[in-house]
Amino acid sequence: MTWQNWAGTVTADPARRYWPRTADAIADAVRDAAKAGLTVRALGTGHSFTAAAATAGAAVDLSNWTGIVAADAETGLVTVRAGTTLRQLNADLDTLGLAMPNLGDIDAQTISGAISTGTHGTGAALGGIATQVEALELIMADGSLVTVSATQDPDLFAAARISIGALGLIATVTLRCVPRFRLVADERPMPLEEVLEGFHEFAAGHDHFEFYWFPYGRNALVKRNNRVVASSMSARPPAPPAMPGWRRFLEYEVMENAAFGALCRTGRAVPSLVKPLGRVAAATLSARSYSADSHRVFVTPRRVRFVESEYAVPRDAVLDVLAELRAAVPRLAQPVMFPVEIRVAAADDIWLSTAYSRDTAYIAIHQYVGMAYQEYFAVFESIAATVGGRPHWGKMHTLDAERLAALYPKFADFLRVRDRADPGRRFANPYLEQVLGG
Ligand SMILES: Cc1cc2nc3c(=O)[nH]c(=O)nc-3n(C[C@H](O)[C@H](O)[C@H](O)COP(=O)(O)OP(=O)(O)OC[C@H]3O[C@@H](n4cnc5c(N)ncnc54)[C@H](O)[C@@H]3O)c2cc1C
Repeated sequence: MTWQNWAGTVTADPARRYWPRTADAIADAVRDAAKAGLTVRALGTGHSFTAAAATAGAAVDLSNWTGIVAADAETGLVTVRAGTTLRQLNADLDTLGLAMPNLGDIDAQTISGAISTGTHGTGAALGGIATQVEALELIMADGSLVTVSATQDPDLFAAARISIGALGLIATVTLRCVPRFRLVADERPMPLEEVLEGFHEFAAGHDHFEFYWFPYGRNALVKRNNRVVASSMSARPPAPPAMPGWRRFLEYEVMENAAFGALCRTGRAVPSLVKPLGRVAAATLSARSYSADSHRVFVTPRRVRFVESEYAVPRDAVLDVLAELRAAVPRLAQPVMFPVEIRVAAADDIWLSTAYSRDTAYIAIHQYVGMAYQEYFAVFESIAATVGGRPHWGKMHTLDAERLAALYPKFADFLRVRDRADPGRRFANPYLEQVLGG
């Protein structure tokens, strides 16, 4: 059966598939594939826009290998099986009184797919999901199981937290979670100029700040989410109430998905309408403020399919990049249907993290499926290149190992660890050949 990713941009026909239910069975799959001379890839939920998971060899589907193995509410350390989706993880953590400190936009991905590509949310003082990893159990190319952490093979740990599956199959992930918390969400339209002017202040002043810029509109949608803290300890006003279910449905399902989907279909059918429709979408944004459990605020449904490219740039360069992009968009031959999303993250120490060693801003560009995106993405890529932009490992880009080596100070160290962990390239695929070399 042909495998396809969420965006429909990548298909593959694995020669064999395995659905292991135990760590031993994952190891058996690797050994069995090796006997047949096949390369091996783990399948997450296919939410990468790149061909990261694609294989013509053996595909190891971990959807039967889910759930929490161990949890310590005192330390917040939680060990989870690799195929667990973030949705299930969030629900299970909730019942333990725990939560992930930060999350991205959606919760459909597996924990191991999310960390392997450097999935992130937003927060100037926070890193991506892989920074929450304290230990990993890996099935290596010979089928052996090794545990890595900051004290057990620290080099392999620094490489394996974000490895695009190049070093082995992750069997379990141990995460450092935090006590469950609520967020106050504040989402409102603001003039783009005002958002850009206040960007660094907003990023520093809110736990989770991001904004969406609608390429042909004057307004941006600004999201500022902050942790609810006991009112006696806080100068912040009291938290607003939860959003009623009907309003959540209306705003997120009807407006952001059904109505926006209809706009997109119209724009795809009649491209000359894209610019006026974009202006309408930006002008009709409304303000909302509510409080909810953290994961309910972080995650929103994304039912309208799109393609995406995202670059991590040094935070200080973000305004220059956006200025260039704003100048370039009106000159594109084909109009842009989707907004641009801007987020932030703290520097971290994971070798292939897009935020390695630098405070980062993420700029994500999108286009509705079925509409031309190539020129737009190429122009964006060339702008990002001028400031040393690093592409998200799971989102569309054309960089190869040579160019990526110049962007990552620890790239050669990663390759050295890869040579040690997988000298025979059992875990290779064409995407890894592109971004890491053979
Ligand atoms: C609608 C949508 C919203 C998104 N939002 C965000 C966002 O907010 N922030 C962000 O940063 N990204 C975002 N992404 C990108 C997404 O988080 C990543 O592409 C992520 O990798 C997808 O996880 P997955 O489970 O689908 O993994 P897949 O795409 O299936 O696989 C990704 C990689 O991980 C490897 N892998 C999976 N499991 C294992 C394992 N057990 N051991 C070793 N390797 C493994 C695969 O082989 C592959 O190389 C979004 C994508 C979509 C489609």
